[in-house]
Formats: sequence, structure tokens, C-alpha cells
Amino acid sequence: MDVDEFRARAREFLAANAPESLGDRAPAEVLREAKRFQAAAYDAGLAGITWPPEFGGQGRTAAEQQAYDAEAAHYDLPSSPFMVGMGMCGPTLLDLGTPEQKARYLPKLLRGDEIWCQLFSEPGAGSDVASLQTRAVRESGGGWVINGQKVWTSGAQWSDFGALLARTDPDVPKHRGITMFIVDMHAPGVTVRPLRDMTGRAPFNEVYFDDVRIPADSVIGEVGGGWLAAVTMLGHERVSIGGTVRRGSDPLSYDNLVELARRRGRAEDPVVRGRLAEIYAQEKALGLFNSRLRQEAEAGSPPGARGSVSKLAGALLLWRAVDTAGLIAGPELAAWEPGDAAAEEMAIAINSTPASSIAGGSNQIQRNIIGERILGLPKEPQVDRDVPFRELKVGTQRPA
Ligand SMILES: Cc1cc2nc3c(=O)[nH]c(=O)nc-3n(C[C@H](O)[C@H](O)[C@H](O)COP(=O)(O)OP(=O)(O)OC[C@H]3O[C@@H](n4cnc5c(N)ncnc54)[C@H](O)[C@@H]3O)c2cc1C
Repeated sequence: MDVDEFRARAREFLAANAPESLGDRAPAEVLREAKRFQAAAYDAGLAGITWPPEFGGQGRTAAEQQAYDAEAAHYDLPSSPFMVGMGMCGPTLLDLGTPEQKARYLPKLLRGDEIWCQLFSEPGAGSDVASLQTRAVRESGGGWVINGQKVWTSGAQWSDFGALLARTDPDVPKHRGITMFIVDMHAPGVTVRPLRDMTGRAPFNEVYFDDVRIPADSVIGEVGGGWLAAVTMLGHERVSIGGTVRRGSDPLSYDNLVELARRRGRAEDPVVRGRLAEIYAQEKALGLFNSRLRQEAEAGSPPGARGSVSKLAGALLLWRAVDTAGLIAGPELAAWEPGDAAAEEMAIAINSTPASSIAGGSNQIQRNIIGERILGLPKEPQVDRDVPFRELKVGTQRPA
């Protein structure tokens, strides 16, 4: 089947199966529809398009993935419950998981039967995630006991599994004593509490671990090799975030801003047109950059620090789009007629924009990474580099 045939198949499937926009429906209903759609896509051979067939994927090319994405961008698909699993945890398992882990988890993840979350950030460890204090202690039988708290965990409220970073050795410097685990979010001792953001929604959570027991085969990669696993996942995350912010269904996309300008009678205004041209050019450039990263990853060259370019460019573009929406619509963005669903959606998109400069590592952190790892600028001073974690003053920890 060539790319055009594949595109036609995707188009036909989407026309028959894509749900109506779910707008402000209750989260339980969104989740139900999301699972229904994902299972249908999987069964039709349209999930995990570039993933290996032995783990539920289709083993197809990046060009076919792009063809599917281009068709899917015409719909407001309920893909958010699966973004962390498919964009981050799954690719990390593909890179570092054992054959047994891949066979057990990836097909169910791709079909949407099991949802995943990322358990990295803590109240005292965000940008500096290597300062994390959640502990994993090995039991005599080989399993592990987890204690600690995570925060800002997107989608934990509906997740079945999480990729957890925990400290397994406090006697070595902070980056070396961390391990990544698969944790069952329904295990006894896991408590998930919602956190509401300024859109009024509760997309993320606090997650508490109180004596949570997980088996020996839950380790992703090596014991003590959690930093490498974390960097691997963050690389996937940055490409995933950078690559998904500009969907056609996004109220702040070029197409929708043009539509807004037409509705407000501003489409002929030269200043507005200049701004729209700028958004168009940046959106296209970012799309091409992301597709290049995807193709290179497929050819065995992972995104590495270039994921930070994609993530940063996506966040900056979103802010520019918010400015442009303000230029076009003015005060109407903040005060609209009750029942004007398009205006409300735009307000939610605008209120979500600051999160894009924080989630997946803040803009400042992306600039540090680009400076150090791509531009070869001097590294930030790291005074705690060789100090055993136990002796550091981080989070709530104080040296004994
Ligand atoms: C919408 C959203 C979803 C999220 N989802 C998840 C998730 O699913 N799982 C998860 O684990 N985490 C998640 N996070 C957390 C996210 O990764 C952290 O918020 C982020 O890494 C920043 O950490 P922090 O909030 O602790 O801020 P801090 O690290 O305390 O940073 C505060 C400020 O200091 C700046 N700063 C810090 N260090 C430096 C430095 N070295 N140089 C220059 N400036 C610096 C930062 O840029 C920021 O402006 C999510 C966050 C958001 C907003």
C-alpha cells in the first residue's frame, strides 16, 4: 500500500469513526469516547503506525504517520488521555524495556485499554528533577517498596500504570541513585488527588505512595540508571509536546485565527495579515522540523537535545498566537456572550497557554539545554555534582 492509499484508508476510517467534538462534556464521557475511538483505530490498523508489529504496531513509515496526522488534524479527536502513554512512556519502553515488558504493556497501551502517566515531578523537584525524594527500597524477595509524593501528574486520575522515578541509592550523587519503575496505579497505597488549574479544569494531580509494593520486574532499564531513562523519556516528551500543539482543531492554530479574523471583519487589515503570515510560516517550519525529527528517530537517530528546540518553538509560537488572537478580537476574548462556545473554547486555549511554557521543562530549561548541548556554550555551574544525595539540602531533606 503506498502513502496515498494509506491516506485514503485513514480518511475513510476517520469519517466513519471520529466522534463529534466533545467540547465541555464530563471527563468520564470523554474518556469513554476516547477509549472507543482508540480501540477502533487499533483494530483498523491505524494505531502505533510506525511502531514494531511484534508489539502491536504497524511497522509503517514516518510518511504514513504524517499522512494519518494530516487527516486526523481535521477532527477534534479525544486523544489527550493517551498522549503521555503513546508520546512518552511507550517510546521509552520501546527504547529501554525488556522484551517481556514490551509484549505485556505496549499492545494494550496502543489500543487505549491501559492508560499511562509520568511520575517525575515532586514538590521539591521540578526543573531539577534529579533532586527527587520519593524512595524505592528493595525487599528481600527482590520487589520494591515505594514511599513519597509526586505532583502535576497529568492524567493520573484515569491512569492504569505510571512511569515512576524514585531514589534507590541516596549514598551516591543525585543523578546516579535514581531508578525508573513501572507502577500499577491501582495498587494499594496509591492515592490520587486532583489539582485544578486556571481553566477551571483538573488535568493534573498530586499522587501519594504509601508503602506501595511493586515486583522486581518493574524496573525500566537498569537499577541506578533512572537518569538515562528520564532523559530518554524527556526527549520523547519534548518532541511529542512540540509536535502536538499546532493541530487544526486548536483554536489558536493558523486556520482558526484566519477564521477569527474573517468573523471579526479584520481579515483585510494589513497588520493582522502580517501577523497571520508570521504564524503560518512558523507553524509550517515547526511542522517540518518535527517531521524531520520523527524521520530521523525512525532511522535510529533519537531527537536528543533537538527535542528542546521543538518544545521551545511550540511554546513561543503559542504565545505569539495568543497575542494575535488579542489583536484580532480585543476585549471580546475576555468577555463573550453566554453560550458562544467558540469564544469559550478560545478562552480555555488562552488560559492553557502559560502551561505550555512549563510542562515538559520550562522555556528557561529548554534554553539551557539548547545552549549547552547544541550551541556548545559553557555548562551551568553544578556545585552538587559529586556530593552524595544524602548530604544535599533539597526538598524537605536536611543533612543528618
Ligand atoms: C500542564 C502541566 C502538566 C504537567 N504534567 C506533568 C506530568 O505529567 N508529570 C510530571 O512529572 N510533571 C508534570 N508537570 C510538571 C513540570 O514538569 C514542572 O512544572 C516543570 O518541570 C517545572 O518545575 P517546577 O514547577 O517545580 O518549577 P521550578 O523548577 O521550581 O521552576 C521555577 C522557575 O525557575 C526557573 N528555573 C529553574 N531552574 C532554572 C535554571 N537552572 N535556569 C534558569 N531558570 C530556572 C524555571 O524556568 C521556572 O520559571 C506538568 C506541568 C504542567 C504545567
